[in-house]
Amino acid sequence: MTGMVFCRGCGKEIHMMAPSCPSCGALQFPILNGKSKLVAGILAIFLGTFGIHRFYLGQWSGIFYLLFCWTFMPGIIGFIEGVVFLCSSDYVWNVKYNSGLPF
Ligand SMILES: [Zn+2]
Repeated sequence: MTGMVFCRGCGKEIHMMAPSCPSCGALQFPILNGKSKLVAGILAIFLGTFGIHRFYLGQWSGIFYLLFCWTFMPGIIGFIEGVVFLCSSDYVWNVKYNSGLPF
């Protein structure tokens, strides 16, 4: 079923917009746009030069990667960002990129 996530507390499948788990009561972070950490990380590592991962995350700053893609900097930054993406916890990832909050 689409729109389902796993509870952070007990691992039971609950609706992604559920504010808390009906089973164990654990508070859930609302996942608003479901950006994949894995996809963003892979895009950043292999296509970071062009800022594809930023566009994937809906961030207009990807344009700077494109503007400077003829230098080696965006590729390096993208690679580092990709590693950081892949190493960040699901919680941190969701807070940063899937919460819809402006930070
Ligand atoms: Zn639960």
